[in-house]
Amino acid sequence: MTTGATLLGSSGPLQNAYDVALLDLDGVVYRGALGVPHAPEAVIGARAAGMRVMYVTNNAARAPQTVADHLTELDIPTRADEVTTAAQAAAALVASEADATTRVLTIGGDGLRQAMLAEGLTVVASADDAPTVVVQGFAPTLGWTDLAEAVYAIRAGAGYIASNLDATLPTDRGMAPGNGSLVAAVVHATGVTPRSTGKPQASIFHQAARRSDAERPLVVGDRLDTDIAGARAAGYPSLHVLTGVDQITEVLRAVPGERPTFLAADLRGLAHAHPEPHRRQGAWTCGAAAARVDDATLILTRVGGELTLTAGSDPTTVSLDEFRAAAAAAWAASDAVGTARADTSVLPADFPPLRLASE
Ligand SMILES: [Mg+2]
Repeated sequence: MTTGATLLGSSGPLQNAYDVALLDLDGVVYRGALGVPHAPEAVIGARAAGMRVMYVTNNAARAPQTVADHLTELDIPTRADEVTTAAQAAAALVASEADATTRVLTIGGDGLRQAMLAEGLTVVASADDAPTVVVQGFAPTLGWTDLAEAVYAIRAGAGYIASNLDATLPTDRGMAPGNGSLVAAVVHATGVTPRSTGKPQASIFHQAARRSDAERPLVVGDRLDTDIAGARAAGYPSLHVLTGVDQITEVLRAVPGERPTFLAADLRGLAHAHPEPHRRQGAWTCGAAAARVDDATLILTRVGGELTLTAGSDPTTVSLDEFRAAAAAAWAASDAVGTARADTSVLPADFPPLRLASE
């Protein structure tokens, strides 16, 4: 299943059109310890409509049961087999290449070690135990002695796999170093670059789809460079929600490989039909909304006149259909001039923040 790099339509609710939602967690279902508003009702409603859910997370420190318990506490009853972690994706890769001599040194939390054991792999605790592969995942307790162990083993010839390469990790005090930043220290000391299995790699999504017997999976996420890029890489359609990291302006400026298929404010978008934008006489329309992009300017056609938005404009409220029409217009304009990178989108980096009108 492949999709083009623009928005599609769905004449019925997404939860009827797709059989499994591959849901991101942070910024979609919860933010830190707190649930995202409307998420429990939306997930329960999607299940009642026949859609199954599989959570897909780059967090390699927490075991699936721990994630399931957290979701259950947030009023979303969840089983461990409805969670796919980057640790499981890494373990699946190691297992697919393993033979009788394979010995895994895990540098990370208990979730990472448990994932290797669940694949029947032999796990060792030290570079002195002659590991054949090092697998590194984030844990808040990781220190110099752990990184040194990885370096000893890799310099002695062990293979190297990272659960994910996220540079940062959101915490309640701001952004902290993520797994990719700790991996960078090991890369610096060894000159060896690991293979990664977490988002935005396709493999974690393919594994999640396989584990949930998905025939028509829909990826749901808040980050363009992990969730949505991974969906594109996997060949699955995606729904972007605005409850986490990336907001409307980031979506409008997205490069082709990071463009979602559907747009919604939050998970309630699963229960809705999604009108498809169409090009009409130089503008893009969606429902009653119309937008066009001229150079670095977005122009929304509204009753009573046009609204012109460019660098330095005031923050503005738009409807969901205006957001869809604007995304289609901005992407088509960027494609027309052949831009390949976010910092060369036709819309400038200081394009004003847009907010969704509550509907
Ligand atoms: Mg997220």
